[in-house]
Amino acid sequence: MNWLESIGGFVFGMECLGCGVASESLDPWLCPACRAELEKMSKAPHFPNGDVFCLFPMRPLTRNLIHALKYKSIPGMATYLVKRSCARAGEVVAQELSLLPKPLYFVPVPLHPARLRERGYNQAEKIAGALASTCGGKVWRLFRRRTFVVSQTKLSKEGREWNVAGAFEMVPQKKMPTCGTVLVVDDVFTTGATTSSCLGALGQDFPLPVKVCTLLYDEPATAAADFAADNRTAWDSM
Ligand SMILES: [Zn+2]
Repeated sequence: MNWLESIGGFVFGMECLGCGVASESLDPWLCPACRAELEKMSKAPHFPNGDVFCLFPMRPLTRNLIHALKYKSIPGMATYLVKRSCARAGEVVAQELSLLPKPLYFVPVPLHPARLRERGYNQAEKIAGALASTCGGKVWRLFRRRTFVVSQTKLSKEGREWNVAGAFEMVPQKKMPTCGTVLVVDDVFTTGATTSSCLGALGQDFPLPVKVCTLLYDEPATAAADFAADNRTAWDSM
């Protein structure tokens, strides 16, 4: 931000990360109108199936906020969103989670190493931490990336799913818990290819029930570009 923008921000208020309009009453990122819209959206979680909880639908507002979390170096957006979602006490996802065997283990999907270097943090880990403190539970780094994933943009849908299928493996554990529930945590759920790959890495003998929890649900057709951006590699330029 240059000095002119700083003065502009001071005089006219900073821009809302949701709608881009300058406002004097950000909280600290959203204007009152976007706050109200987010609150409304928190009442519309999406469960693609009985094992997958998506806290918000993908709309222009939530797309902008997840973009801020991933590309504008605002890791605090993870906590901001989780605390305003239906994972809050008394809301619908909190109720669903309360029915699961305890403790809850929030397991982040690992970020591609190139993205981690660039971003400095794994957004899924930030979301997992926010869920653990909001819902009660622990963060468990159970997965790591196994293969160098080829650019998703050049692959067909089947190719993309195959490509990500072997991408993760379980970090060897000295002692496996005997009770509780694993919740695999990611930012966005689309086709489920990424989370399926994590589930595949657990194998048949994994002793705990496994669910999935993401901040957003996106229709598969509109998600290809975001997915490609996240998994793009140096091979793209070859
Ligand atoms: Zn706004």
